[in-house]
Amino acid sequence: MNIAADIKMQFLFQLRAQGVTDSRVLTAMEHVDRGAFLTGLFQKRAYDDVPLAIACGQTISQPSIVGLMTQALDVQPRDKVLEIGTGSGYQAAILARLARRVYTVDRYKRLTRDAETTFNALNINNITAITADGSLGLPDQSPFDRILVTAAAEDPPSTLLAQLRIGGIMVLPVGQSDTVQRLIRVTKTQTGLDYEELRTVRFVPLVEGVGQD
Ligand code: SAH
Repeated sequence: MNIAADIKMQFLFQLRAQGVTDSRVLTAMEHVDRGAFLTGLFQKRAYDDVPLAIACGQTISQPSIVGLMTQALDVQPRDKVLEIGTGSGYQAAILARLARRVYTVDRYKRLTRDAETTFNALNINNITAITADGSLGLPDQSPFDRILVTAAAEDPPSTLLAQLRIGGIMVLPVGQSDTVQRLIRVTKTQTGLDYEELRTVRFVPLVEGVGQD
């Protein structure tokens, strides 16, 4: 067995041990090289289950958290998905293997531009990366079947909930940035919203407005 295959096996083992059991999610994560979304020395740690630094003072999430969030989102092949917080683009690339189309928004132009370059290099062509304030969502493209927020808000943003179709699911961390946040799954039904608490997490904050870089 070569080293790459060995590392990948350990990566998948670690994901399963952390509760990522959905085979579609595991297959998607097996096929998206996290190293392609990292630069310099961090590439060496691509398959460690840790968050790592990316440009603009942001972070690429821990793989097991990416897996658990993707699993909770229960993405279907025909789905149109909105992700808030492109960051490196890693999470969007995984969603793109499971969904029909992914729209991903970040407030830093540098991050959406770099992510687009990576998507092109990996031949992924069902992701649209947009620089904007994601707390406003993308009204022109709504409603979405699934919405994933990868930055923490104090409450689920009502603007985003309004852009979720009935029967749709939104997964997001809620809570203040320097405290423990809760990962929440919201399902929109005919009669209202169902909330489910999944686990504690730690994400960078959802910040209003567009960034300088
Ligand atoms: N999903 C990313 C990690 C996200 S880190 C990955 O796979 O690498 C959180 C990201 O949310 C950061 O890049 C930050 O710039 C972005 N962010 C924070 N507030 C935002 C807002 N209001 N609109 C859009 N993006 C935002």
